[in-house]
Amino acid sequence: MADVEKKDTVIIGAGPGGYVAAIRASELGQKVTLIEKSDTLGGVCLNVGCVPSKALIQAGHRLEQAEDGSTYGISTKSATIDFKKTQEWKQTKVVDRMTSGVQMLMKKHHVDVVNGEAVFLSDTQLRVMPTGEKQFMSTDTGQTFEYNNLIIATGSHPIQIPNFKFEGRVVDSTGGLNLPEIPKEFVVIGGGYVGTELAGAYASLGAHVTIIEGTKSILPNFAKDMVSVVLKKLKKKGVDVITNAMAKKSEQDDKSVSVTYAVDGKETTIKADYCMVTVGRKPNTDTLGLEYTKVKLNDRGLIEVDNQGRTASEHIWAVGDVVPGAALAHKAFAEAKTAAGAISGEKTANDWLSVPAVCFSDPEIATVGYSEAAAKDKGIKVKTAKFPFAGNARAVSLDAPDGFFRLIYTDDDNKNVVGAEAVGPEASTMAGEMSIIVNDGMNVEDVALTIHPHPTLNEPIQESADIAMGLPTHV
Ligand code: FAD
Repeated sequence: MADVEKKDTVIIGAGPGGYVAAIRASELGQKVTLIEKSDTLGGVCLNVGCVPSKALIQAGHRLEQAEDGSTYGISTKSATIDFKKTQEWKQTKVVDRMTSGVQMLMKKHHVDVVNGEAVFLSDTQLRVMPTGEKQFMSTDTGQTFEYNNLIIATGSHPIQIPNFKFEGRVVDSTGGLNLPEIPKEFVVIGGGYVGTELAGAYASLGAHVTIIEGTKSILPNFAKDMVSVVLKKLKKKGVDVITNAMAKKSEQDDKSVSVTYAVDGKETTIKADYCMVTVGRKPNTDTLGLEYTKVKLNDRGLIEVDNQGRTASEHIWAVGDVVPGAALAHKAFAEAKTAAGAISGEKTANDWLSVPAVCFSDPEIATVGYSEAAAKDKGIKVKTAKFPFAGNARAVSLDAPDGFFRLIYTDDDNKNVVGAEAVGPEASTMAGEMSIIVNDGMNVEDVALTIHPHPTLNEPIQESADIAMGLPTHV
């Protein structure tokens, strides 16, 4: 076996958790080695997640807008799309550009990037093998590193369900993002945020989409009245949403795939060009050799950490999709900075309450902190104040008046804001301000006194605070 190389801080995985941890650790004076098994940096988010999905959603919006300018008195000849060109643009101008940007950042911060697959040998040593060759660990291939501290940021992968093997016309979200053509018929199994976003994107691009969801509603983590705004728009796009439905089996030939599902025991089969399964993700923790360390996993295979990201092994930390909580890139960014800081002796800690949850549906949904129901579950007495986008001049001028903003605040003299929810145009962009409000423990008066420029989509935040103060302005 080759010599053991001594390292300072080692990070496994170059997704949002890993590359941001690398930057911050380097800024704080650590000598960083980043191990990534893929050829490109950026992880799921930049390569096959957040970024390409938003590019497809945007292409869908552009096509819809081009097709229907009549609201503004604009008439265009019927719009057409060359989907091959759309896919090329998504890959070369968006994904490749962003991933090479990460590569430049690694150079700028003097991060030593090592290509290969990391496997633990002990709490202080790991071996990096050429990707896909872990089975040859006993040979001389690969390098062994000993480290002072290590951050695990190996992310997650899509869950497969029985009778829906990912091959041919049955695809996971990665396959769904990279379809060679716009399907005429597209079946999406799983109406979580990934399924709903891509269902909406392909419907905007002209596909007839059917969502098959196992629970009683799509987007079950968001309040019912928010989801109903999205459902109304999906219906307008012609999307069929089938709930309480269990996906049973798929059968395919080279032209189509038949998908069978059951509702109340009654089976139905539909034919489609492609079937995408988005029923959740599993952490990449089972083939890391964690059994050779003191790191503990919970019953879902997620790594148990404290509020700085430290695992049960003193010098090993974990961030992003491998730890409990929402599987979101910005949560990974935040945890990465905390862990890198903690290794340098900083006292910062993660506060998961103010992590925004966002769905880039049409319209978008964003929530921060407690919903009304979650606050009640926690025994916090709350009130809510809601302002509709129909009363917001900017939303109306964008022809996007559907949806609302809601503040959730304590039912006492302080009226502290404990949660904020938006469903409407650019709700994702509002989430940053919502997070500041909840994170900084502002009360409704603080929000009401914060002057918002007019006409902007963030004004409903101030308007809701006015309502909470008993002094409504535009309702
Ligand atoms: P990952 O991004 O999964 O990166 C982990 C990296 O580790 C990978 O590059 C992998 O190759 C590498 N790796 C794994 N094992 C090893 C090993 N043994 N050795 C070396 N390298 C290894 N989140 C949002 O916040 N906003 C969105 O809009 C959004 N949209 C999404 C859309 C889709 C379709 C999907 C699938 C996800 C989306 N997400 C979104 C979620 C987001 O992509 C993840 O939460 C985020 O990528 C997690 O970051 P991470 O660093 O924990 O892991």
